[in-house]
Amino acid sequence: MRIPLVAGNWKMYKTAAEAGEFVQQLKTLLKDVQGVEVAVCPPFTALYAVARELAGGKVALGAQNMHWEEEGAYTGEVSPKMLKEAGCRYVILGHSERRQYFQETDQMVNKKLKAALKWGFVPIVCVGEQLAEREAGKTAAVVAGQMEKSLDGLNSEELAGVVIAYEPVWAIGTGRTAQPEDAQQVNSFIRELLAARAGRPAADKVRILYGGSVKPENIASLMAQPDIDGALVGGASLQADSFAAIVEGSRLRGRA
Ligand code: PEP
Repeated sequence: MRIPLVAGNWKMYKTAAEAGEFVQQLKTLLKDVQGVEVAVCPPFTALYAVARELAGGKVALGAQNMHWEEEGAYTGEVSPKMLKEAGCRYVILGHSERRQYFQETDQMVNKKLKAALKWGFVPIVCVGEQLAEREAGKTAAVVAGQMEKSLDGLNSEELAGVVIAYEPVWAIGTGRTAQPEDAQQVNSFIRELLAARAGRPAADKVRILYGGSVKPENIASLMAQPDIDGALVGGASLQADSFAAIVEGSRLRGRA
């Protein structure tokens, strides 16, 4: 049974003060929610304020990025040890904005992923094609390449603990969601890649999220797909009511 996961990626929004206030509202809205895991991934500067508000509750804390080294001369970077101390359970790796604006490669994602597992985080590894790649019929090849290189060297047990987020780049922040059937096709393809690499039992345990303009209005049709196990939510995670509505729409409905 895969418990759905809904993770809010706040990107570079919300100061620590704004984040603390926001989480108070969110906690009230989600206090009775069951059958879904929920995480928020604030900017680094807000992690401690959010951790304080979330303490003892159901909503988990995540980070948006992480360096692979425990410490060192890496100006501007944040290490797994620091995120652990801040109380993070999840860490997003290889988001398309990191790949696009900060030249993050699959090889870097792979190093980060190994470090994340070593430090006991639940990594959320993002993959997805650009619009031109989709239009050229290259979606499967692009996603397979990202999966191959990002997951290199992991054993079946490690793979079973990874979360994959399929995020078509053209759907992120554009209001243009993938059709649920198209997202399902890619998510199912990702599961087959995992099965080929790690065996069916491990592949069946992996939660494969969809991300890209998820809103309260489209979450039900996405979650109706058998291989969509939750959502990575950007814009709509910045308002407590819309994020809570997405969480509500993602609750467990007897997944395999
Ligand atoms: C994201 O940032 O991962 C994302 C999916 O953004 P949005 O929901 O705004 O498209």
